[in-house]
Amino acid sequence: MTKLLHIRELRAYYGRTTALHGISFDVQEGNVTALLGANGAGKTTTLRAISGMVKRSGEIMLKERSLINVQTEDIARLGVAHVPSGRGTFEKQTVENNLKLGAISRRDKTGIVADIEMVYSYFPILKQRRDQQAGLLSGGQQQMLAVGRALMLRPKLLLLDEPSFGIAPLVVREIFEIFRRLNRELRTSILLVEQNASIALQLADHAYLIETGRIVFSGTSADIRNNEQLRRSYLGH
Ligand code: ATP
Repeated sequence: MTKLLHIRELRAYYGRTTALHGISFDVQEGNVTALLGANGAGKTTTLRAISGMVKRSGEIMLKERSLINVQTEDIARLGVAHVPSGRGTFEKQTVENNLKLGAISRRDKTGIVADIEMVYSYFPILKQRRDQQAGLLSGGQQQMLAVGRALMLRPKLLLLDEPSFGIAPLVVREIFEIFRRLNRELRTSILLVEQNASIALQLADHAYLIETGRIVFSGTSADIRNNEQLRRSYLGH
């Protein structure tokens, strides 16, 4: 298996506060990797550090390319697409314009048109709503649009921050099923941050547990499910 993302001793800072205390983990190419942990553990900060949105130090390698001194827009261009928590779609723009804005750094017009259709094939509801304002979509549909917009970059790696947040359980299941298809069919690797450990572990090949800015456990989803203490703490049963 080939390593896509290699993170060593990653630290992140908000002003004088250190939020990540040197975390190390990998994402294998073609895999879904989950970062799990309680509120405030440092999951969101880890994704922000990878995409250069907070001050950071340590080692972040995307294949052979170091990202530690690369700016956010260039990190996106190198194939890392970040879907932040709270979605961040352009609410006043139509669904289709949001997808086009996702491709703003691309010049291949026919490729863009084809990729909009590709996004619609995964999220047919977005095609039905293509002319509607994004702000009028339901929470689940906005999450789909945010992911669709990220796919317009044809990413190698998708960073998903809490995609289940505030969405009805049935819709969460539907969206996670689409993540599975994206991973299998497009071979998009995924780094998933979730508080909903149960749904995350159904999708993930590998999981890391974070507590107060440190990795405290690494294993397969089955390793976590088979460990009584972890199961109680993270899955609540
Ligand atoms: P949540 O699910 O609540 O977002 P999380 O695991 O993603 O939790 P982070 O948001 O990464 O956690 O927060 C890690 C630490 O960094 C916390 O102690 C938090 O208070 C702190 N922190 C997060 N954002 C900021 C900020 N903008 N300024 C200062 N401190 C911050």
